[in-house]
Amino acid sequence: MQQALTFADVQSVKHLAKQLKLAHPELPHGKRLDLAAAELLGVRNYHELNRRFQAVIDQYLDSPSGPNAVAHCLYCDFRFAADLKGDQREHRENHERIMEVHEFTGYRPGTYVEREAMKTDGYTKARSPGFLEDRIDGALLILRAWFDRSYHRAIDAGQWRKHPSFETYVAIMVPYIEGVFPELAPSLAQRYGRTPGVIAHGQTNWPLQ
Ligand SMILES: [Zn+2]
Repeated sequence: MQQALTFADVQSVKHLAKQLKLAHPELPHGKRLDLAAAELLGVRNYHELNRRFQAVIDQYLDSPSGPNAVAHCLYCDFRFAADLKGDQREHRENHERIMEVHEFTGYRPGTYVEREAMKTDGYTKARSPGFLEDRIDGALLILRAWFDRSYHRAIDAGQWRKHPSFETYVAIMVPYIEGVFPELAPSLAQRYGRTPGVIAHGQTNWPLQ
């Protein structure tokens, strides 16, 4: 197995294990998982698959050492006590939710640190005395940071499929942008449209359904 394991790989194995119930009704579910893992991914058993998948997840952990250390995942932004089993399980669930969306859509929303960097950069550009186009790029960076937080929240709530696309989100936020960057809002409205009334004024999160 050369390629890094994906969320979809693990799901396929679970799916096949269920199907194998017909051919092997005598086997316990664990054995069928072993068979499916070996057949689809060439690993020895499901335990090995699980161990390798955990390593894929753990590669993003920033784990300071010492007692009571809080681990931080740079991929899904989860913070947890790395030595607590319950916390580990919660991290894995959270991580898998982001991974599923990332694999399905090709998009992973930025973490808090990434979003803050986008905002800092965005405000500097948007307020600069430079070309209109550069200032609009700055506004779009700020909007991207807001969008990512909103999208992340929708993933947590299991509603990411209903969340507006970035383009639609910009149109929704244009009324708010009119107050923050009045000179940039018309260009954004021209390109993305203007959709008032979806997100309350002053808010940046898409309302969960
Ligand atoms: Zn994670």
